[in-house]
Amino acid sequence: MSRLLIIGCGGVASVAIAKCCQNSDVFTEICIASRTKAKCDAVAEKWRASTKTQITTAEIDAMDVPALVKLINDYKPDAVLNVALPYQDLAIMDACLEAGVHYIDTANYEPEDTDDPEWRAIYEKRCKDLGFSAYFDYSWQWAYQERFEKAGLTALLGTGFDPGVTSVYVAYAKKHYFDTIDTIDILDCNGGDHGYKFATNFNPEINLREVSAPGSYMENGKWVEIPAMSIKREYDFPQVGMKDMYLLHHEEIEALGRNFPEVKRIRFFMTFGQSYLDHMRCLEDVGMLSTTPVMHNGVEIVPIQFLKTLLPDPATLGPRTKGKTNIGCIFTGKKDGKEKKLFIYNVCDHEECYKEVGSQAISYTTGVPAMIGAMMVVQGLWKKPGVFTTDEFDPDPYMEALNKWGLPWIVDENPVLVD
Ligand code: NDP
Repeated sequence: MSRLLIIGCGGVASVAIAKCCQNSDVFTEICIASRTKAKCDAVAEKWRASTKTQITTAEIDAMDVPALVKLINDYKPDAVLNVALPYQDLAIMDACLEAGVHYIDTANYEPEDTDDPEWRAIYEKRCKDLGFSAYFDYSWQWAYQERFEKAGLTALLGTGFDPGVTSVYVAYAKKHYFDTIDTIDILDCNGGDHGYKFATNFNPEINLREVSAPGSYMENGKWVEIPAMSIKREYDFPQVGMKDMYLLHHEEIEALGRNFPEVKRIRFFMTFGQSYLDHMRCLEDVGMLSTTPVMHNGVEIVPIQFLKTLLPDPATLGPRTKGKTNIGCIFTGKKDGKEKKLFIYNVCDHEECYKEVGSQAISYTTGVPAMIGAMMVVQGLWKKPGVFTTDEFDPDPYMEALNKWGLPWIVDENPVLVD
């Protein structure tokens, strides 16, 4: 029996809400609060008749901390699930601390205004000190460790698929299969086709910023940064087939590098078709991926936000997308003195997801773990004071929940490795 406040009502939130409604023994009450209340009302309406979960809605600008504290104090949730955007992470964490509730999210903090001089000074120092230049990193949220610890509250960071499930796979591999892990390759394959010439599977601004940035991986505890899309491999993904994939920077590498210092190399690869890459390169070359405002006919616009207006809304891709995703981790290491390799992965079918909850597999593979992370916290299975990523808890109850709630995993003890 618990009450969850869900912030944001986009693609990922819609699935997390659907899953909370399926899991009404745990989530007896939810409040969906977002910037546009009409979206919350529409989603609430969709599930109300078929769930025992009591659903209410509210309008909130999550950047307005006093208003959010008031909403939390009025609703009195057991935890807040942040499935808005990474820009809101710190404001929502501040509100949770002030109101005394647990915090859960699916992506680490990133500033909306990357030209803010105060932020930029800290960012440039970090680029120099650590050697990776992504706009997002964990330092901002790890800085809340002491405050959450003192308040006796849990902040669970990044409980989507990647990050989220991928990091739980690492904890699970370490607990059950390895004495030491030497290498981790995280592979994210989307074999789906939505029929559009160009569209992103989740928030275009976040997605395009991520994939157009330099790639990086961790080797012997140090970051190695490479130009965007400059390391390419082919992999034959079970149930999907042969795909091109490219090395990207990805947030879980940072947390895994800190929490599993024995691992000698951690890389992340994502599949992209040639047409996607051609479109992206062209948009970048003409400045459409820029986050810096420009004047257009006397009106200030941010190019990437304008692009978002032009692109298909990821939430509308569901009925058009066919094919499967395959996301997982390939490990090498040692067990009882012998060399060992392992692949743990999930295969998710876009059309099946749409049939079940009305969303494609990208939102599904993120929304299900968001609900599971919230369940771990409110049930007390994952509850310790402080700020943690998903690799820092017992993986077993989470892995069990993945099987139960729609993301079953497969273990292959003889996978092909990525060179
Ligand atoms: P969407 O853009 O579809 O939805 C974002 C939602 O947040 C919208 O409802 C939006 O409201 C709301 N929102 C934005 N700003 C505010 C604000 N200031 N106050 C309140 N609500 C606000 O994004 P997605 O659903 O695709 O992504 C949600 C999160 O999931 C993101 O953080 C993303 O990075 C993360 N993610 C994580 C993945 C993982 O595997 N870990 C994979 C994919 C996504 P409005 O409708 O008014 O715009």
